[in-house]
Amino acid sequence: MTGKLVTTDVLVIGGGLAGERCAIEAAAAGHEAVILSLVPPRRSHSCAAQGGMQASLANCAKAAGDNATVHFLDTVRGSDWGADQEVANIFAEEAPVAVRELAHFGVPWSRVRGGKNHYFIKGEEVDIEEALENDGLIGQRDFGGTAKWRACYAAAGTGHAALYAVDSEVVRLGISVRDRAEAVALIHDGSRCVGAVVRDLRDGSHFAVMAKATVIATGGYGRIYGQYTSNATINEGTGTSIALDTGIVPLGNMEAVQFHPTTLSPSGILVTEGCRGDGGYLLDKNMERFMVEAEPEKQELASRDVVSRHMQQRMRDGLGVESPFGPHLWLDIRHLGEEHLRTKLLEVWDICRDFVGRNPAKELIPVRPTQHYSMGGVRVNKDGQAYGLSGLFAVGEASCWDMHGFNRLGGNSLSETLVSGRVVGRRVAEYASGHELRTDTGLAFDALAAAEQRAAAWLARSGSGPSVYEIRDAMGETMMHKVGIFRTGDELDEAVAEIGQLLDDCDHAVLRCKDPGVNPELAFALRLKGMLRLAMTVAKGAQARTESRGAHYRSDFPLRNDRDWLSRTLVRWSADDSEPSFSYEPTGIIDLPPGHRGYGSDERIEMTNSLENHNEGVQEEQVRHGRLPSAEEMGSRLNRGAWKAVTG
Ligand SMILES: Cc1cc2nc3c(=O)[nH]c(=O)nc-3n(C[C@H](O)[C@H](O)[C@H](O)COP(=O)(O)OP(=O)(O)OC[C@H]3O[C@@H](n4cnc5c(N)ncnc54)[C@H](O)[C@@H]3O)c2cc1C
Repeated sequence: MTGKLVTTDVLVIGGGLAGERCAIEAAAAGHEAVILSLVPPRRSHSCAAQGGMQASLANCAKAAGDNATVHFLDTVRGSDWGADQEVANIFAEEAPVAVRELAHFGVPWSRVRGGKNHYFIKGEEVDIEEALENDGLIGQRDFGGTAKWRACYAAAGTGHAALYAVDSEVVRLGISVRDRAEAVALIHDGSRCVGAVVRDLRDGSHFAVMAKATVIATGGYGRIYGQYTSNATINEGTGTSIALDTGIVPLGNMEAVQFHPTTLSPSGILVTEGCRGDGGYLLDKNMERFMVEAEPEKQELASRDVVSRHMQQRMRDGLGVESPFGPHLWLDIRHLGEEHLRTKLLEVWDICRDFVGRNPAKELIPVRPTQHYSMGGVRVNKDGQAYGLSGLFAVGEASCWDMHGFNRLGGNSLSETLVSGRVVGRRVAEYASGHELRTDTGLAFDALAAAEQRAAAWLARSGSGPSVYEIRDAMGETMMHKVGIFRTGDELDEAVAEIGQLLDDCDHAVLRCKDPGVNPELAFALRLKGMLRLAMTVAKGAQARTESRGAHYRSDFPLRNDRDWLSRTLVRWSADDSEPSFSYEPTGIIDLPPGHRGYGSDERIEMTNSLENHNEGVQEEQVRHGRLPSAEEMGSRLNRGAWKAVTG
């Protein structure tokens, strides 16, 4: 690609698992596809995924009886009834195909061993006989919030194995990859999106890619929590942010932010849930297994939101282990033994030794909860089509599809990237087949000029304003301490005021390095305002949602409120407006009625509307909020009432 303007059929912004899988589908249908990525695709954040990928294969003894309906049930319960149940069902039905497809692409899945197997369950050693005929099938381990062992894994390097395999397919199909290239604005005419303006991170130049269909697959935005995240430094939410800038496309459920229970203290590097799935447990400073009393049924394997809250409370109660970096708790996996750690949890073995200098077969691991996953993102319909702008799609963590609702289950994200990549990729291909790229190139040149002007304006600033990194660090402190695991109205008010101040500061920040080319400070400065705007949508969304649901916990409104809040938050905020505007759409067609999740609190404010009434208005309401028509009628992929056969 050379020149200021290039064209293609499908532009995929993001070279992680979701973007690459989507591009494969478009290319396989005969379309020219271009993938953009900040880094070489194999360094995308998907590569860091550790413990597993959920799919109801029912391959091992503890997975017996599993099927898509059980997976659907777990996912909806995990979401605390925040998920779109039709999307959760599509996901659960297609996940087994996605896992088997990965085997075909070359992922070396850990396998079932027929005969006697030694496991740890709820702290007890047990021997379980795996059927000899299952020997060699894709293995599965336990994860939080699930009724069955369902997480397929490649040791603790599942994302690494999956991304390398999928990227090899991208290479095989000859899909163009433009790495070290950042989409900085979408090109659109108010009703259709026709590509993006891109900044070349190698030399600071800009170019435009015009496309029939554009896909945002830019991953999560954990870095708005500064150092308090397990996410890579590239997870700054730029893709989500440029969708928000349009003022047309809404983001969904931004206040739904996941905190993972076990990240290394102090670095925040993840220690997979697979450790607890394989029998590891949590201890406080008195060596007490507090989760047994807190959650007698699921113990350490309740959902992440529930476990993180118990851990945080334990530390608030003074039962954390004091350290120069603040309190932490212990994760104990010593009893699993060195052989297990060096095979099924190999990456954890390495991480503990490399980053805290501890041998996890002999020593305890210092852990505490940290920001981990963004349930919110670009709101899309079941085809992955963004609300409001035709030709714009979103997949993976950047999207709010929305199968996770207010809490994602461990292992459901890797599956989502592959399933949504397949499902949405098909729709993207259909869209590209049915639409021509006939549009005014002036749109692209105007957007290009605006992007060049933004970069030049940053370089032209002078004086003694704050540094962009000071603003970033302050944002992280505010987000973790005031928009964190426990939230209150007063702290959220403070957070909104502080982020507002940081937005003002951002307008006066000054760069230390004025080089227009390879200049990481400039590249970051160009993202900072977008990050602050995302942070504001999270804080304001949390301020407005006066209930607790999944990972969004309001200490001043501790109950889930199905009477008033069976709704998804939508937020729009054009780049020219000073304030975001919020609206709420009904959650989706509900088949599984709201109830107890099976862990956490059983107290809630019951819905007073009947399910029939709730469901009746959903489609019209969502259309009113910008939902575009999907290829198949809304609700047609919901396997209505199937859950009754499972729950009795
Ligand atoms: C440490 C860790 C472990 C995890 N383990 C698991 C697990 O075991 N199981 C599970 O299910 N989930 C796990 N997750 C979550 C899961 O890995 C992610 O949610 C998922 O991989 C996200 O994939 P993605 O394709 O949506 O985005 P990513 O893999 O984050 O890819 C985003 C891509 O977008 C590109 N990009 C970003 N912005 C721009 C831009 N403006 N222009 C151009 N390109 C851009 C990036 O370069 C990158 O290529 C884990 C997450 C973490 C942090």
